Amino acid sequence: MSTYRIWYCSCNGTPMELDYEKTLETDGEPYCDCCGATPSSDPRQTLSVEEKEDWDD
Ligand SMILES: [Zn+2]
Repeated sequence: MSTYRIWYCSCNGTPMELDYEKTLETDGEPYCDCCGATPSSDPRQTLSVEEKEDWDD
């Protein structure tokens, strides 16, 4: 079992899941296509994270 994180950005009013595959360009950080927020640069504090457990492992 392992845990992984799902990041959301709520810049457009509803939490939107960030696509992790696009984050490789940004040093592995989740990146919002819409507002450009990342966990280390989130001036409007629109990002939130959810920890998920992966039981398939
Ligand atoms: Zn955003």
